[in-house]
Amino acid sequence: MGLVVQKYGGSSVADAEGIKRVAKRIVEAKKNGHQVVVVVSAMGDTTDELIDLAEQVSPMPAGREFDMLLTAGERISMALLAMAIKNLGHAAQSFTGSQAGVITDAVHGKARIIDVTPGRIQQSVDSGNIAIVAGFQGVSQDSKDITTLGRGGSDTTAVALAAALNAEVCEIYTDVDGVFTADPRVVKKARKIDWISFEDMLELAASGSKVLLHRCVEYARRYNIPIHVRSSFSGLRGTWVSNEPQGDQSMEHAIISGVAHDTSEAKVTVVGVPDKPGEAATIFRAISDAEINIDMIVQNVSAASTGLTDISFTLPKAEGRKAVEALERTKARVGFDSLRYDDQIAKISLVGAGMKTNPGVTATFFEALSNAGVNIELISTSEIRISVVTRADDVNEAVRAVHSAFGLDSENDEAVVYGGTGR
Ligand code: ADP
Ligand code: ASP
Ligand code: MG
Repeated sequence: MGLVVQKYGGSSVADAEGIKRVAKRIVEAKKNGHQVVVVVSAMGDTTDELIDLAEQVSPMPAGREFDMLLTAGERISMALLAMAIKNLGHAAQSFTGSQAGVITDAVHGKARIIDVTPGRIQQSVDSGNIAIVAGFQGVSQDSKDITTLGRGGSDTTAVALAAALNAEVCEIYTDVDGVFTADPRVVKKARKIDWISFEDMLELAASGSKVLLHRCVEYARRYNIPIHVRSSFSGLRGTWVSNEPQGDQSMEHAIISGVAHDTSEAKVTVVGVPDKPGEAATIFRAISDAEINIDMIVQNVSAASTGLTDISFTLPKAEGRKAVEALERTKARVGFDSLRYDDQIAKISLVGAGMKTNPGVTATFFEALSNAGVNIELISTSEIRISVVTRADDVNEAVRAVHSAFGLDSENDEAVVYGGTGR
């Protein structure tokens, strides 16, 4: 039997009991004859607590020190997990990201993996150990400093290691039974998906379904690593994410894969932009120079009487202040009137490859929102996704309404959430 990579998220190792429960599960895989490499996240809400702590000390901590602080969370869980496994009579060794050969670029807070050289991990499992690797971290090739991969980055560590070690499968253990047609914390009638394509999973992840990180799915698709998302609290089979369904993985011919929502973004509106060539270019060059990634953009037609237009775009809340400061600096050059910043928004997205060939989908989506009394502020589409921005207060109701309107509600099982605070 081959090598498996298992990743356990923070809610699965939230306390000592959780660590012991997970240790038993890992030992089972080893007893079944597999070589086992485990990637582990920080315990419970540790990462958020470390962020809160840093903010109390400094409003804008330096990226290098911030990363050094956050990686401590995963060091704690990896060492405890190795101890718990040894206590069950099995050999285990823990490794930091850097020791495991996770090499990244030098962008603190959202580093990209550029290479994985897992020699020490391979050696460790070849000599009979279970190897435990700290997720979410690496080391920069250039600066030699410790980096982090962005929130939820342990998913990416797991897939990257699975690719480098030629693993049979990458198992992502979390606090729900798999990928559902909507977040089970919001929609009790969400259905578990047996199999989903990389393509649809990429859009769901990009639209805010945090059960899998977007970069992790990108990586899995590039190296063709099948992912099995499942609960660490139950023995149920979860969701397979891969190119094609295998064996008895039922392929559902659904038009829609699911509904995703995201409340982590804010909206910036540049009011009163002169309607002439070059203005949008100046605005978005300033945003790009500040290394801010934007999501949706909308420009209205200009009012004939004034020749002025408004441009709105969305971006991660965490980058809001930086964006507003960067735009203020262009004010004289662009000649806009004012800036509006709104962080009380939500994005709701409908995803499914089937919408390419089903023209009624957009109308049904908008009708569902209208029937729920939800106002739409921005719209954007791709071939297999429609997204809208609404008020943050409306998000739960909007997601439920859309989920029902597309017949996604399950008749019986209530989706179970086993742990986590949803933070
Ligand atoms: P972990 O700590 O294991 O990394 P996360 O909190 O990052 O777990 O991801 C699991 C959570 O993702 C679930 O508890 C659930 O609330 C949320 N989630 C959002 N959308 C979905 C979805 N479509 N299917 C399953 N879970 C989802
Ligand atoms: N501990 C990190 C976070 O909370 C990484 C992870 O859990 O994947 O974002
Ligand atoms: Mg996660």
